[in-house]
Amino acid sequence: MVLIDLRSDTVTKPTDEMRRAMAEAEVGDDVYGEDPSVNELQERAAAMLGKEAGLMTASGTMSNLIATMSYCSRGDEIIMGDQAHMFWNESGGQAALAGAQTRLVPNDARGGINPEDVARSIRPKGNPHFAATTMVCLENTHNRCSGMVMTPSETKAVCDVAHQAGVPVHLDGARIFNAAVALEVPAEELTRDVDDVSFCLSKALSCPVGSVLVGSKDFIKEAHRWRKMVGGGMRQAGILAAAGLVALETMVDRLAEDHQNARRLAAGLANIDGLAVDADSIQTNIVIFDIDEKVATATDFMKAMANAEVLVSYPGEHSVRMVTHRHISADDVEEALSRTSRVVREFRA
Ligand SMILES: *Cc1c(COP(=O)(O)O)cnc(C)c1O
Repeated sequence: MVLIDLRSDTVTKPTDEMRRAMAEAEVGDDVYGEDPSVNELQERAAAMLGKEAGLMTASGTMSNLIATMSYCSRGDEIIMGDQAHMFWNESGGQAALAGAQTRLVPNDARGGINPEDVARSIRPKGNPHFAATTMVCLENTHNRCSGMVMTPSETKAVCDVAHQAGVPVHLDGARIFNAAVALEVPAEELTRDVDDVSFCLSKALSCPVGSVLVGSKDFIKEAHRWRKMVGGGMRQAGILAAAGLVALETMVDRLAEDHQNARRLAAGLANIDGLAVDADSIQTNIVIFDIDEKVATATDFMKAMANAEVLVSYPGEHSVRMVTHRHISADDVEEALSRTSRVVREFRA
């Protein structure tokens, strides 16, 4: 039985073209800013997202942390959605390392946040009793909201209220190219109104390692110092950047295939008694579905699935996540569905 790994798109391995580019990459010492491949990646990424400059980092978590450190002083406050990856899955780095506290506003089912909630939650600088708001965070696509996409106008609405109060907006765009492909718009339309964006090379874009943070020249200059402080200054990082350049050229358009497979997967899951998913709502490559508690807990379900050689992850007590990616074909989706159906049937028996 072949293993079907639907835990995450981070399991994707570099393509042959990436491995060749990595082997042949021109490199230099990036801490001195002398790695031509890193410089090219940073410029290319910034241009694709409509920003002045870029900074390659080790991971999305590091990019988000560096952005936080660039905007926030100790005791400042960040506003973000209550399902944000930065809140749930980044080890409390904003608090522990940036010294900033997080204020949560509700995420809607589409991964957005209500501009009025943001406006009401922003607190000014200068009041000795207050933690001043110095950053608002958005996420697109939204990981815990089943890969939902924020549109340019939804993004703008939040940015407008933040900017009126003089607060910058960071976009955790780990999968921003999935959002752009889903909406069939250039990625820069989704990033126009935010001050900076982080995206991951290491997810559906199939690179082995890396993220890029893009923003204004001044912001990136500040971020550069924080990257050094958290140990993210890498030397001949061009070996990794070379894969990133191939990814930006060859891996973006094909994301449509992952999205189509995710919709197929969701439609099949919706037909399995005991599972619940709104198949029509799936926009990108993440499918989160609920499992009836009378059938199994998510933990038990996940174990049974692993025994059936299908790896999944679980974001909640009764919810399970499946992610499609470059190594998952339409046939794999069919096979995963038939194994899932069998696992559920065995629980119900
Ligand atoms: C994966 C992810 C990150 C973190 O990226 P890493 O490279 O795993 O550190 C941040 N935000 C979102 C929305 C993600 O999905």
